[in-house]
Amino acid sequence: TDEPVVARPRLTVIGTGYLGATHAVCMAAVGYEVLGVDVDPNKIAKLAAGEVPFFEPGLGELLRDTLATGRLSFTTDFAEAAEFGDVHFICVGTPQKKGSQAADVSYVHAATEALAKGLRRKALIVGKSTVPIGTAAQLRDMVHAVAPAGTAVELAWNPEFLREGYAVADTLQPDRLVFGTESRWATEQLKAAFTPVLERGTPLVECDLSTAELVKVAANSFLATKISYINAMAEVCEATGADVNLLSRALSYDERIGGRFLKPGLGFGGGCLPKDIRAFAARAEELGVGQAVSFLHQVDAINGRRRTRTVDLVRELAGGSLQGVKVAALGAAFKPNSDDIRDAPALDVARMLHEEGADVRVYDPEAMDNARRAYPDLTYAGSLPEAVAGADVVVLLTEWAQFRDADPEMMGWLVGRRKVVDGRHALDADAYRAAGWEYRALGRPTTS
Ligand code: NAD
Repeated sequence: TDEPVVARPRLTVIGTGYLGATHAVCMAAVGYEVLGVDVDPNKIAKLAAGEVPFFEPGLGELLRDTLATGRLSFTTDFAEAAEFGDVHFICVGTPQKKGSQAADVSYVHAATEALAKGLRRKALIVGKSTVPIGTAAQLRDMVHAVAPAGTAVELAWNPEFLREGYAVADTLQPDRLVFGTESRWATEQLKAAFTPVLERGTPLVECDLSTAELVKVAANSFLATKISYINAMAEVCEATGADVNLLSRALSYDERIGGRFLKPGLGFGGGCLPKDIRAFAARAEELGVGQAVSFLHQVDAINGRRRTRTVDLVRELAGGSLQGVKVAALGAAFKPNSDDIRDAPALDVARMLHEEGADVRVYDPEAMDNARRAYPDLTYAGSLPEAVAGADVVVLLTEWAQFRDADPEMMGWLVGRRKVVDGRHALDADAYRAAGWEYRALGRPTTS
């Protein structure tokens, strides 16, 4: 228990996607020597050349600055990583399994095993990926089985809470750190890997492996539930003529409730919330406590219904049929300031409109390449004016500032008809109506 820790550990970050690339860059920026590792040679080549392979505000600049210090480098070689690091962060993907609600942890296993086999001295492997409860304990047993005899390797869990679009700030100034460990040494070694963050006074929760795994999925489940809660109220509003925007505002003044994540609209998507709540429900089922989180199925269902309801509103505005209707779909990313289209509500709606015969033209400021790759059947516009030109209905699906700030009068000159569905409650309804637009939003009466 009194074993010494490496005061300024060298770090590896295995899996350099949204999470890992950000972690590697930020840790190098605050002074650590960091080696980023990925199985994707293209990603590694881009990062090594100072290019972030996805859109994240501020990250490119920080990457180029830290590369220039010589503290940050990249490789595809696991043996090099094993040799280099004192603390190894596992940041690979844990997507939803095909044909199942559960999480696919095969990448986490593969990455951890490849690393552990090459270790030759005491090291700490730290999982950051979001995983089903119990994964860390399995990995620990696997690591002990495959690490060369005499190599003392420990495993810890440090769940990550960063938000895309705010990834740098969330990594350097997180709300809290959670360290799940099985020894004093592991906790102290992990602290030494976060010294600059802890010195800022960041709250630290020290716990066991299972609690650390659970914190992440519990947090995401809460956030998803809060969004679906207000969207469930939107459904009630639609049946009664009440206005969910005003309802949400009135609720938000109650400090016990709070206004964040209480915004009604098209609901959540992305590479985390949807798959995480499904994986959590599936894991709880396996653990015999499925009933305790069965509400998550409702949370998911409410979220899905917002997408079909948005299609309904567009159809209504179009006069009852979507056949041949020109629709300008504004947004593709699952949220603004990101190019991430994983389980994006925007593209799901665009796809449904397309399948009902609408002539859909999609525009997004950052996510066009990703969207084209995933939905090659949709039509894409090169700019906002091009997307709305001649449209019968405009539907706002991702609340980019560029769309929020567009002038209703100018938009009006471009479209075929002044009809808009505001899927994110992001537009100024009064300004649009004043400019002669027919304005519709989820959970709001046609007149408010
Ligand atoms: P991502 O798909 O962007 O990145 C995953 C990376 O892992 C890819 O670059 C892939 O090539 C690499 N990889 C796959 N198998 C590998 C292996 N065997 N060895 C090395 N690299 C390998 O995913 P992401 O969004 O960065 O998410 C990673 C994890 O972090 C997930 O568990 C996710 O739930 C969690 N997470 C993500 C966020 C977020 O905002 N994106 C936030 C918190 C937690």
